[in-house]
Amino acid sequence: MSGCLFCKILKNEIPSTKVYEDDYVYAFKDIKPMAPIHILFINKDHTSDISELVEKDLNQVTQIFSAIKKYTKESGLDKKSFRVFTNKGSDAGQTVFHTHFHLISSDGSGRL
Ligand code: 5GP
Ligand code: ZN
Repeated sequence: MSGCLFCKILKNEIPSTKVYEDDYVYAFKDIKPMAPIHILFINKDHTSDISELVEKDLNQVTQIFSAIKKYTKESGLDKKSFRVFTNKGSDAGQTVFHTHFHLISSDGSGRL
């Protein structure tokens, strides 16, 4: 979607630090990490938030959580602790209106 920051990241118009990619999902480091590990997972198909995503295509929930599973397994994070969340709406803290899931972890260095 034109004007969408994360669509621009997907098109490589804005640089990002990729940590994972498959046919449906792209994951990159958050520019302003709130924990030692802070990754954003986005579907390649644009939706504005989790409500719209579920209405449009429930398969995308499976795709994004499969990607999170693969990434946490590959990186060894699944043996440690992590938190996954999404913000829906500005009052919940959503600032980018392309559905994304935050993955944060202290990477074994203490409680989040
Ligand atoms: P939200 O507040 O919408 O749930 O999350 C948006 C996230 O995107 C924030 O954690 C913010 O730091 C991150 N972010 C905003 N702009 C950029 C950017 O240009 N690049 C990257 N990598 N992350 C961004
Ligand atoms: Zn978008």
